[in-house]
Amino acid sequence: MKIIPVSEGTFTIDKTKLFVPYNEDTHHLKDRTAGSLLVEIQPFVIITSKDILLLDTGLGFEKNGQLQLHQNLMDNGINPSEVTKVLLSHLHKDHAGAVGIEREGLGARLSFPNAAYYVQRTELAFAFQKGFPSFISEELECLKNSEQVILLEGNGVIDDYIYYEVSGAHSPHHQVFWIKEDNETIFYGGDEAPQLHQMKHRFIAKYDFDGKKAMELRQQWWETGEKEKWTFLFYHDVKHPTWSFK
Ligand SMILES: [Zn+2]
Repeated sequence: MKIIPVSEGTFTIDKTKLFVPYNEDTHHLKDRTAGSLLVEIQPFVIITSKDILLLDTGLGFEKNGQLQLHQNLMDNGINPSEVTKVLLSHLHKDHAGAVGIEREGLGARLSFPNAAYYVQRTELAFAFQKGFPSFISEELECLKNSEQVILLEGNGVIDDYIYYEVSGAHSPHHQVFWIKEDNETIFYGGDEAPQLHQMKHRFIAKYDFDGKKAMELRQQWWETGEKEKWTFLFYHDVKHPTWSFK
């Protein structure tokens, strides 16, 4: 399998939950509000023998009237129409920002016209119940009542090789994925395994729904991953998009 990180850039985020672009050369973390976190926003493309998968969709920022995510894919030789599956860990705005594209006066349509979108049914309901500032309901509207959207119920397997499990620690209906092909396992833990250093150090994060559970899950995944030689994808890691035990 081939993994392509498609980063939207580095940002800081604080209590306001606003993502502020951060340039390592010209910005300084000490100038940002105390407690600001430095995060990458980094969806992943995985090319398997059956699919072009996209894991989460980023903030959905646009550049020159075009989704930055679409440009990033095209820069990697992938047309957005070639994506066959979009796997969504959860619907927080920094993971689901580009599920749709706004069309002048016509509302939004899904941004990957030939892809099946996989999301937990309870997560979609929860997003609309909670709304701003963690979720942007208007951007998620296009996931409702679409034939392209597959609402998952709990744990399961897609096409015999993509395994999903509701982990529910970062947010109550958060899910994680294992993609298994040719004796290779890629693990995507979304916001429950967001950065390499979080896997190595035990701590409870304030931003998690159930911080203790997230900590315990990270430890379990890291141990099993080492034994079974998984490749981890780190959505928010500024320096290490992936980590492999191989
Ligand atoms: Zn989140």
